[in-house]
Amino acid sequence: MSTTTQTEGRAATALAQLVAGIVGGGIRVVDLTVPLEPATPTIRLPPQFAPSKAFALEEISRYDARGPAWYWNNIACGEHTGTHFDAPVHWVTGKDYPNNATHSIPVDRFIGPACVIDVARQARENPDFLVTRATLEEWEKHYGRIPPHAWVLIRTDWSHRSSAQEFLNVAADGAHTPGFHPQAVPFLARERDILGVGVETVGTDAGQAPTFEPMFPCHTIMHGSNRFGLASLTNLDQLPPTGAVVIAPPLKIVNGSGSPLRVLALVAA
Ligand code: MN
Repeated sequence: MSTTTQTEGRAATALAQLVAGIVGGGIRVVDLTVPLEPATPTIRLPPQFAPSKAFALEEISRYDARGPAWYWNNIACGEHTGTHFDAPVHWVTGKDYPNNATHSIPVDRFIGPACVIDVARQARENPDFLVTRATLEEWEKHYGRIPPHAWVLIRTDWSHRSSAQEFLNVAADGAHTPGFHPQAVPFLARERDILGVGVETVGTDAGQAPTFEPMFPCHTIMHGSNRFGLASLTNLDQLPPTGAVVIAPPLKIVNGSGSPLRVLALVAA
């Protein structure tokens, strides 16, 4: 048997085992997505910047005179609404990469192993908690080096906050939500070959990131390194530190900077 045939054979077996695990048990599919509805919180920018629209659903017909046998809606929202994907073109630092928008990113880059960094306790004690390089190095001591093509997900349990007010946590001096220390981002973006980061907060940067140097380090450096972001994730408390596989393909919006999406994780049950 040729090597190619052996490789194809192994891959076919792996796919069959994957399906058997999902259908018959052994692999649990965890939904990392928040419900998308008009009440879904969207990021609020300072008033000098243009705002993003909240999600809206407009009924076209519902088995009535407008359409006797069918129900459907128009939808409208900003690309960065609810659980959503950030493409490199979203940020000025990522605007010149080829294949940097939602329609052109190679699709294999939407799927990768998850590294789940659990800082829920720290975020509970301090809403401005920042993941540092030391946090990541400590995680690697326990679970091994963050592998290439990984999604690095920060578990803060922030998605447990049920009201928009608690979730956005905006005060007179801006939002207070956890995120990444400016020095942690270059480590992930340049010293580890990750797909991107995922967070439970409304954006990948911390609430106080407008005051950081550089401003919005996660957006600036991640997208400036042609990497992605996933925001408003939930159920990260159902994932193991390593071993889960995350599937996160955005809508194929031509020249899109991001899109709402359904994020799934495959977990050994
Ligand atoms: Mn975004």
